[in-house]
Amino acid sequence: MSSEKTVPRYDLFINGIWVKPHGGGTVEIHNPATGERIAAVASGTADDVKAAVKAAGDAFPAWSRKTAEERADVLYRFKALIERDAERLAHLVSNEMGKPLKEAREEVSFAAGLIRFAAENTRRLEGDIIPGSRPGEKILIEKIPHGVIGAISAWNFPLALFARKVAPALAAGNTIVIKPHELAPLAALEATRLAEEAGIPAGVLNVVTGDGKDVGTPLVEHPDVRLITMTGSTATGKKIMANAASTLKEVRLELGGKAPFIVMEDADIEKAATAAVVSRFTNAGQICTSNERTYVHEAVYDKFADLVRKKIEALNVGNPLDAKTDMGPKVSLPELEKVHAMVEKAVSQGARLEIGGKRLEGGLYDKGFFYAPTLLTNVREGMDIVRDEVFGPVMLLIKISDFDDALRQANDCVYGLSSYLFTQDLKRVMRLSADLNFGEVYVNREGGEAPQGFHHGYKDSGLGGEDGKYGLEAYVQNKTIYLNA
Ligand code: NAD
Repeated sequence: MSSEKTVPRYDLFINGIWVKPHGGGTVEIHNPATGERIAAVASGTADDVKAAVKAAGDAFPAWSRKTAEERADVLYRFKALIERDAERLAHLVSNEMGKPLKEAREEVSFAAGLIRFAAENTRRLEGDIIPGSRPGEKILIEKIPHGVIGAISAWNFPLALFARKVAPALAAGNTIVIKPHELAPLAALEATRLAEEAGIPAGVLNVVTGDGKDVGTPLVEHPDVRLITMTGSTATGKKIMANAASTLKEVRLELGGKAPFIVMEDADIEKAATAAVVSRFTNAGQICTSNERTYVHEAVYDKFADLVRKKIEALNVGNPLDAKTDMGPKVSLPELEKVHAMVEKAVSQGARLEIGGKRLEGGLYDKGFFYAPTLLTNVREGMDIVRDEVFGPVMLLIKISDFDDALRQANDCVYGLSSYLFTQDLKRVMRLSADLNFGEVYVNREGGEAPQGFHHGYKDSGLGGEDGKYGLEAYVQNKTIYLNA
């Protein structure tokens, strides 16, 4: 990093060195709350991807031959540095994508937790020994790294998504080339400086910033990249899967969601309303696990609607760095406009706009992309907003008549990532395994994954999954050895 005018400037990180991109281009990063220019970041090209993959390939033999303890030690140092600089990183996350500082602090701590989990588990990549079919033969099934991993991430958790990909990939002995999102690459770049300080060897971690076309596509198509792990939209995920076909590489895709949030008549309604609002408005609704459709039993609908109305009206929208702020801006103008168009369409299709439904104006709002926390009622099956991911601060209330009705409507969706159920009835909870078609279910709580869980979506929400022992296993492949004397 060097200084150009008043904002920091970031180059690419390839083979342990900060280098200028081949095309020499840069893009400016703006704070979505203030409009302020906060950094200039290198625009990578296909040639930079080539150089980064070469560096990662060259670094692979030595890194993969390190002992599990040696890799863990480096990761523990990396985690400690993230914690040392937590406050600085939280400010960066907040400034580059607009989430309130208190949420950005949680993101930093989650990122550290992901690195800790990876470090703790380097020694647990255990294989099998199976009796062979010949006298004395043993069949060994060993877990070995893939080689060079290509990673592509989204803007909504710029640091956590970086840690979620880098830590398990390195723990398992792979090397990596990562492309952060072009809108919010700064926390990842600063974390890379900490990775350097932690002693991650040259070439093991490479960062090529830039957009999907110039950096993402060449990374996906590169024949020496053996696995692509991507977090982002379903549309991009499908393109990546198609582009990966020519080099037949493995793809892990963490894509969009449309989480149903079911509140039954026997639920703790106050607790459910609080969780529904938190799961909808945290990060201005820009989370793949966000409560995108709130299904409420008709017997408690009015009471629930009153509670969420009060809670939504009490939300403080403002400067993300202010401790009182509950919600910051949308990440960009196109994202704000997309959400607003969805709300307008829902109203035209018969939804009732109870709160919000507009861009906020006046004072600090005029500098950023602030959208009012919004409540739509009278929402029904078949409306576009019930089908498409909003990814914004818009709560939809939908009345349901019984649990079967709730399950049917919840499952009637192309996505299958997260879901929520509030009930005290064990019989209903017991039906979740077979009857609710989502990879992740939160029962009687708001959203938010744990590093030791498994975050994965069915159907259009993705392929693969991340976190925990199953997420770590993605970064190894099996090798079978028929062992004879
Ligand atoms: P996006 O699809 O616009 O971008 C994701 C990444 O893909 C970016 O880095 C982008 O530059 C890159 N990209 C774009 N086109 C590409 C191409 N053709 N080839 C290779 N790379 C390409 O998504 P976004 O707007 O950053 O993220 C929002 C979406 O991410 C939402 O749908 C959200 O639900 C989803 N998301 C999912 C998870 C999860 O864990 N399932 C987590 C966070 C966000």
